[in-house]
Amino acid sequence: METIDPNLPLIDLHHHLDGSIRLETILELGLKFNLPLPAKTLEGLRPYVQVSTPQPGVMKFIEKFKWMTGVLVDYDACRRVAYENVEDAQREGIDYIELRYSPWFMAESHHLHPEGVVEAVTDGVKAAERDTGVRANQIAILSRHYGPEIAMKELDAQLRYASEFCALDLAGDEANFPGEWFVSHFKKARDAGWHITVHAGEIVGPESVWQAIRGLGAERIGHAVHAVEDPTLIDYMRDNGIGIECNLTSNVQTSTVADYGSHPIHQFLEKGLLATLNTDDPGISAIDLHYEYEVAAPRAGLTQELIHKAQKNALTVAFLSDKEKQALLEKKINQK
Ligand SMILES: [Zn+2]
Repeated sequence: METIDPNLPLIDLHHHLDGSIRLETILELGLKFNLPLPAKTLEGLRPYVQVSTPQPGVMKFIEKFKWMTGVLVDYDACRRVAYENVEDAQREGIDYIELRYSPWFMAESHHLHPEGVVEAVTDGVKAAERDTGVRANQIAILSRHYGPEIAMKELDAQLRYASEFCALDLAGDEANFPGEWFVSHFKKARDAGWHITVHAGEIVGPESVWQAIRGLGAERIGHAVHAVEDPTLIDYMRDNGIGIECNLTSNVQTSTVADYGSHPIHQFLEKGLLATLNTDDPGISAIDLHYEYEVAAPRAGLTQELIHKAQKNALTVAFLSDKEKQALLEKKINQK
């Protein structure tokens, strides 16, 4: 039996566009625009951009983003990295990907306009969809650390392109910028017809996951590692079909879990929760989705059967219509 089920679409639901910029692209843009790179070769650059050993916490890991957003000098660069994200998905045999980013965060280093970032990324994603045949959707991120006021401005900018996004997410410093501050933002997004996913239970305990579900209307939770500490929450998530976007290698590298074997994904799947395997920031983690299925998942104690279950769950909780899900399934059957 193969680790990845060839009868099911391969799906990445939790993938930060600006956490997956190619090392080659960072080097090329850095040299072209004379940016202050820490090294001028790929191998020299690698240890600065990528993580190879566990970092002391999520925020330390997030610092690596500066080398990625630092090369987004103009809208062409934003378009290019969006295009390359989809191209990389095709190379990996991914059928459907949800790309997420905070336009404010991507715009910050070079004082771009957040709306210009959305336009450039949308253009790149659509062109790559046409060229590769990979289905892609965009998820809008609000960065917690900007606080509720800027987040509202960011949301309003995103909502001007409402039809280009399938969902809203909240990401960043979960410990110091709680979900309670963003209730009105998420109501506005739900009213616009967007799905909701929230990074929660990565730094903070199960109460943050409860808040994301009850306060923000999350249908899926990014990480949800600490949800396992609350059996009532686990039952609630199972009974209500709340999806979990697991990112195994990311959680090891941020020291959210001690090692792969300590990750709760095994319990999630055994208990019938809709847990999935995803990449988070493959450019920083130096992994891809195949690594998560073929190396990380077995290390986390998943049997082939549970890995296939996770692959199936991704289709179940994808932010797609039933018709679109059916089309992805039929495409796999016709490929055989
Ligand atoms: Zn994430």
